[in-house]
Formats: sequence, C-alpha cells, structure tokens
Amino acid sequence: MRTVYVNGEYLPENEAKISIFDRGFLMADGVYEVTSVLDGKLIDFDGHAKRLERSLDELDMPRPDALPDLLDVHRELVRLNGIEEGMIYLQITRGAPDDRDFAFPDPETTKPTVVLFTQNKPGLADNPTAKKGIKVISIADQRWARRDIKTVQLLYPSMGKMMAKAAGADDAWMVEDGAVTEGTSNNAYIVKGNTIITRNLGNEILHGITRAAVLRFAREAQMQVEERSFTIAEAQEADEAFITSASTFVMPVVDIDGASIGTGTPGPIAARLREIYLDESRKLAV
Ligand code: PLP
Repeated sequence: MRTVYVNGEYLPENEAKISIFDRGFLMADGVYEVTSVLDGKLIDFDGHAKRLERSLDELDMPRPDALPDLLDVHRELVRLNGIEEGMIYLQITRGAPDDRDFAFPDPETTKPTVVLFTQNKPGLADNPTAKKGIKVISIADQRWARRDIKTVQLLYPSMGKMMAKAAGADDAWMVEDGAVTEGTSNNAYIVKGNTIITRNLGNEILHGITRAAVLRFAREAQMQVEERSFTIAEAQEADEAFITSASTFVMPVVDIDGASIGTGTPGPIAARLREIYLDESRKLAV
C-alpha cells in the first residue's frame, strides 16, 4: 500500500480521492511530470520543475495557492515509500468546478488539484533490456499540435504503444510530414559515425529533460550533435538508434519497421551515453 500526496495531504492510496468534476478527468486539462529516483535520490529534478512551470504557463493554469515545495513533497514520498529506484509521478489539473463546462473555471473559486505518487521499480538502472535494445515501428503522428506542453492527453500515445505491441514491437516512432517527431513517450535519435542526430526543438515534440542532459554530456564527450529532422528511411540506414526518457534513460533501438539497425545489437555510442548519463546524473541527484 503506497502513501500518496493529494492537495496537501499524505494518504494511503486507497483513501486518496478526486472529484468526478475534476477537469483532469473530464477534459484532460492537466499537466504532469515523471522524475526518476536512483539511490533514493531525484534525477534531473530542476529540469522537471522548470518544465512543469512552463507547461502551467502555456496553459494559463493557476498555481495552487500554497504551492508546496515540490522538492520536499518528492523527497517525503521517496522516504515514506522507501523508494531506492523508481519514479515519482506528479500531476496538476485545473481543479474541480461545481459543474462541467468548456470554459475555464474562475481561478478564485476553483483551486488546482495536485497529486503525486511513487512507482517502485527496483532494477530501473540495471534494466536488462538496455543490453539487447528495443524494436520500434513507425506510425502517423496524430497528436495535437502543442506537444511541447506535457499534458495528460495521452490517448494517442497509448494507442501507439498498443499498435507496437500488436506488431510484436516495443514502441512506436511517430512520423509527420515524412519526418520522425518522437517516440510515444520518449525522444528519438539516430547515430551516423560520430554524429548524434535528433529532432530539433519546437511545438512538434516534448522538450525532453533527459534529451537536454544527454546532448550536453554528448557534446562534453566531443561527440557531434545535429538537431534536425530525419526520416524512417534515414534511420533504417543509420549506424545506431536510441531513445531517451526519464524512466528509460538511454535505450538502444535495434529494429525499425523490421529493418535491423547497424549490427542489430545495441551500438557503442548508445551504450556509452547510457553509462555517462547514469554516472553523471547520479552525481547530480538531489
Ligand atoms: N517525448 C514524449 C512524448 C514523452 O512523453 C516523454 C516522456 O514522457 C519524452 C519525450 C521524454 O521526456 P523526459 O526525458 O523529460 O522524460
């Protein structure tokens, strides 16, 4: 039984309740963050906190009156639930007005809903999948046009995961106007020689916190980085491919739409970046 956080209270998970009028439930009017925990400490916490602020601003969503110190809440949940490796999920919605309405409720009377809970994942860093890599398929990107905001509208990405599963793959890379945007819940990369290629930032993709850190570490390690669009055909011809996200860190991709990438096994650059990311982020964890 987990202890979760709801609007200022720490409660057993089966006692935590949200109104049926909550706009997160009715309108997907909410934003979220997922922060990983290694050695009982938070990875890239500042990046996630900053992106959360940006998501709230972009949606004109009010801050909770007494926005608790989110770092304290994260740490308290880690402590109460004894998390060594895993994730903290945080969600803020526009709150629960008295009735359903498309218009935003008055922020003076409707206060945001704040929920956090832990996901215990022993072995997150030592994930055996990183040794063999994952398979992806390509699908059309049918999400809304503001993918830079981390909203809880995750139906299409969920459908993408199911399409991948039905095709015997692990995930899907989404394609728009002939170019890869990103994975269903991760950023997508290819490697050619010593150059790492990943989609440039814009409204078309989520600005991954892991992406920012990995690109910084790559540049520090004298690897070349090109932030630009690429196609599935270019990816299938690449030497390596991989994804990044807060919960997978750096994960090699060994197959795209049935075509083996490079040797069909995780490549040296993805493996090295995973190692660097894990080492450096552990040092910076809070
Ligand atoms: N892109 C999408 C669509 C995502 O949902 C996520 C994470 O959930 C990412 C990229 C990776 O972002 P981060 O590295 O901040 O976890």
